[in-house]
Amino acid sequence: MSKVVSQESSPRVADSVAEVRAAVHTARQSGLKIGFVPTMGALHVGHVSLIEQARAECGYVIVSIFVNPTQFGPNEDFNRYPRPREMDLRICGDAGADLVFYPSVETMYPAGHRTFVEVGGLSDILEGAIRPGHFRGVATVVTKLFNIVQADRAYFGQKDYQQQTLIRVMTRELDLPTEVITCETIRDPDGLALSSRNAYLSPAERQSGLSLSRALRLADQRVASGDRDVAQIQSAMRQEMEQTSGLKLDYAVIVHHESLTPLSEAEPTMVALVAARVGTTRLIDNMILRLPSNTKS
Ligand code: AMP
Repeated sequence: MSKVVSQESSPRVADSVAEVRAAVHTARQSGLKIGFVPTMGALHVGHVSLIEQARAECGYVIVSIFVNPTQFGPNEDFNRYPRPREMDLRICGDAGADLVFYPSVETMYPAGHRTFVEVGGLSDILEGAIRPGHFRGVATVVTKLFNIVQADRAYFGQKDYQQQTLIRVMTRELDLPTEVITCETIRDPDGLALSSRNAYLSPAERQSGLSLSRALRLADQRVASGDRDVAQIQSAMRQEMEQTSGLKLDYAVIVHHESLTPLSEAEPTMVALVAARVGTTRLIDNMILRLPSNTKS
C-alpha cells in the first residue's frame, strides 16, 4: 500500500541547472513562494522536518541532494557517505517536495572550477579548526545552490549550528536574496541528535554517542538554575564526555550564540557546542542555553 502512496507522491527530479531554473520560473509565474532545503541525502526525520516546514510556508518546495566533495577533507568519508537515491526520492515525495535537484559532481563543479567562497573567522574556529577547508566547501556550494534556486526561504537545521551561523553571515554579507530559516534539532527518544552519520555507529558506539546530549543537558540544567560560571560548566561537560569509554572529545564549549567566540562571563543567551569521535564517526551537537531572567550578574 505504501508503494502506491509513494509512487503517487513522487517528486519531479532535475539533474541540470536549466531544469531547476525553468521549474522555478514557472512556479514564480503562478505566484508561488519558493522554499528550498539543501541536503546531502541519506534523509532522516530531521531532514523531513525541514521539508515539512518549507511545505507549510511555501507554495513550491525544492530539495537538493548533493554529497558535496569540496566540504570533505582528504581523509574524510566522502566515498563511503550513504547515497540511497530511490529511498531519498520517496522520502522527499512523501514529505511534500515538488522538485528534487539531484546534480552530479560534474554539474556542480565542471572541470577547472576555481571560484570559492570564504567566510572570514567563522570558517577557522571549532568545526573549521578540526576540518580545514570544510566551511569553504559549504559556503561555496550553498552560494551556488542559492544562485541556482533563488528561493524566497531556505531551511537549515540547528543541528549544524556553526553551519547555519556561517550561512546567515554569508547571506547577509553577499546580499543573497534568500531568507535563512533555522529549524530545531530532531532527536531520537534517547537524546541522540539524528544524523546521516549515525548509520555508521555500532550499538556500543551509539551508547557512547549519547554522552554528547548528556553533556548538553547538564549544561542546560546548570544555566537554567542560574549558574553563571561558564568555565566550570564547560569543564563539567568535558568531564562527562572524557569519562565516556570509546569517545574522543574534540571540543565542549559555551560560546556567544552569534559570533561563536569564547565568553568571559555568562550572557542571557549562549550556545553550548560539542563534538567528538566515536570510532571513526564524528558526531556534533549543540544546545541554546538561557539564563533565567531574574539572575543577577
Ligand atoms: P546534511 O544532509 O547532513 O547536509 O543536512 C541537511 C540539513 O539537514 C542541514 O541543514 C542540517 O542541519 C539539517 N539536519 C541534519 N540533521 C538534523 C536534525 N537531527 N534535526 C534537524 N535538522 C537536521
